[in-house]
Amino acid sequence: MTTESYEVIALRYASRMATRSAVFLNYHLYDEPDGPIQMDYYVWVIRSSERTIVVDTGYSELGGRNRNRGHIIHPVELLKQFGTDPADVDTLVITHAHYDHIGNLEAFPRARVLITEAERDFWRGPTAGRLLLHHSCEDSELATLEQIDRAGRLQAFSGRAEIAPGISAIEVGGHTHGQCILTVPTSDGLVLLASDAAHYYEEIDDDKPFVVAEDLDKMYRGFDLIRSLIRNDNAVLLPGHDPDVMHRHRPLDGPLAEHGIIIGRHPEEAS
Ligand SMILES: [Zn+2]
Repeated sequence: MTTESYEVIALRYASRMATRSAVFLNYHLYDEPDGPIQMDYYVWVIRSSERTIVVDTGYSELGGRNRNRGHIIHPVELLKQFGTDPADVDTLVITHAHYDHIGNLEAFPRARVLITEAERDFWRGPTAGRLLLHHSCEDSELATLEQIDRAGRLQAFSGRAEIAPGISAIEVGGHTHGQCILTVPTSDGLVLLASDAAHYYEEIDDDKPFVVAEDLDKMYRGFDLIRSLIRNDNAVLLPGHDPDVMHRHRPLDGPLAEHGIIIGRHPEEAS
């Protein structure tokens, strides 16, 4: 294979405590005791010597305030501290349009923004304003996405798209109408950046859907796809909100060690 080798970095910008019964759909069906569960919030960077791609933009002050959720470090500031200035980013992937994934789009004025057609169109549709769908969004942020489209910077795809050499975006739906996942080749293996197709490892390990499920059939099929990529391609799963991500992978060097992990490394950086 002659494709580029990438690093995948997960940057954790927020964390909160929830309960298992509030996180897993129809939790009473599992006959397990309720209990606390931590939910962490990440943005991701995919990097090679050739390019830098940001995946999702985290939640904004507004999106956090409306849900009584603060930041550990604001995602835009965290990206800057990492050395990725959002103002310079030319490729941004939006895995889905929930508030915690599109909150700071205005910080990326130059980026072409990739999203599935299904996700873009769903939030224009007749049911997007209904409480059980809309509570995960901010209207002003969906409007920013529309502005980006009108400005010609939105690039919508359906099914599967190669967004950079070797990097695939795959539409799975389930959590939202057009949720996508990414596969990224690294020196540590194929990284499967699931975003919210799997919030927690447990969803995949125990076939346990997250509470927010727009299409349960597609969510289960997404789980099947993720498991097949792990089984057949030795893919390394990065779920969207699991605190264990921070423990399963190598911390970043230096002052951001507590704020992010890295998978893969360029051979020239090895010492
Ligand atoms: Zn999310």
